[in-house]
Amino acid sequence: MDLRTYLGRLTEYGSDQKKENKYLCSRLPNSTKLYNMHLYNKVDKRVLKQKLIEEPFQRVTLSFYRYVNIPNPQEIRDQLFAEWAEINCFGRIYIAKEGINAQMSVPEHNMELFKQNLNSRESLANMPLKIAVEDDGKSFYKLVVKVRKYIVADGLKPDDYDVTNVGTHLNAREWNDAMQDENTVVVDMRNHYESEVGHFKGAVTPDCDTFRDELPMVLKELEDKKDKKVLLYCTGGIRCEKASAFLKHHGYSDVYQLHGGIIDYKRQIDRENLENLFEGKNFVFDERLGERIGDEIISNCHQCGEPCDTHTNCNNDDCHLLFIQCEACAEKYAGCCSVKCKEFNELPVEEQRKLRKGKRKPKRNVYKKGRLRPHLDQFKRGDLILESPLKLDEQDKTAHA
Ligand SMILES: [Zn+2]
Ligand SMILES: [Zn+2]
Repeated sequence: MDLRTYLGRLTEYGSDQKKENKYLCSRLPNSTKLYNMHLYNKVDKRVLKQKLIEEPFQRVTLSFYRYVNIPNPQEIRDQLFAEWAEINCFGRIYIAKEGINAQMSVPEHNMELFKQNLNSRESLANMPLKIAVEDDGKSFYKLVVKVRKYIVADGLKPDDYDVTNVGTHLNAREWNDAMQDENTVVVDMRNHYESEVGHFKGAVTPDCDTFRDELPMVLKELEDKKDKKVLLYCTGGIRCEKASAFLKHHGYSDVYQLHGGIIDYKRQIDRENLENLFEGKNFVFDERLGERIGDEIISNCHQCGEPCDTHTNCNNDDCHLLFIQCEACAEKYAGCCSVKCKEFNELPVEEQRKLRKGKRKPKRNVYKKGRLRPHLDQFKRGDLILESPLKLDEQDKTAHA
């Protein structure tokens, strides 16, 4: 495929990442012209979502990761983007010299082709794929493949741990047995907004926004528990690979990790008819925002306090705050986090544009638990307009699977 077709496809699949466009354009003759023509013209996400709804076939949501030496991430990135766009895959994929971390949606009829594609590269061959638990096939609506420094943003330096010295992997049955042991401490290696809607019974759930913040917090938490058996888990297992190595480096000898994470745990307990020790929902970093594992609802609506575990992003795209909202509040606030956002959304587009003008978006729109409630309260009182939209940024999305 030549670069122009590639670029056309890039636009078609809705990837509006300025950086990757710039990179591609730098390789084209006459680049400025093309850049302006195709690539600043962002495809509206509503159009893409509508296209997805109208698709006459099923999609499979899956995830995978592998720590593997990739000497030329940018080159692999370009190839994978072209090849996966060809078979109509969507998703969010990070590639670094240390490996690959992918959340994807693959058309059911192209699953075999997709597997063949993975197998055609030694570094990706025989990849264990984790298939989503609850899947409406609408997890992603575009394909984004990014080159990153690391596949999980952990803030660690190579001296902080030995990557090869990880914890013992446990399957669901072994995990359940280990949890019964009194000399055990279970640690949730995910962020607060993930563990808020679901976690293993009795697990330590650090109040952190990012994986990077969490590692030192966990050390502190386990300070007086060096003699205990430490059980780690996360969504799909990738974070535990780093966390277990980190803990072992810091003198914990009895470290275990849930192999395949919560996603595979659910598969195994269903298949083998095991007791489910996970309560509530498994938060996921795609359009679904969660999949049900246990029947109980362990969290509350951030607006009215009623039991609820449905995450949503504020309907006002300028805000996009990630929060928990019940059906009644969704109706009352038209899917927004506040009256202010609702009112803003109801204004004519021209009016919105005027109000938005000159208001600089913060560089790092990270959702913070500590700031969430005051943020919502301020919104309700009308003290806050659009100055501080809080949302998950791309950086924090790296730490999942
Ligand atoms: Zn509510
Ligand atoms: Zn809002």
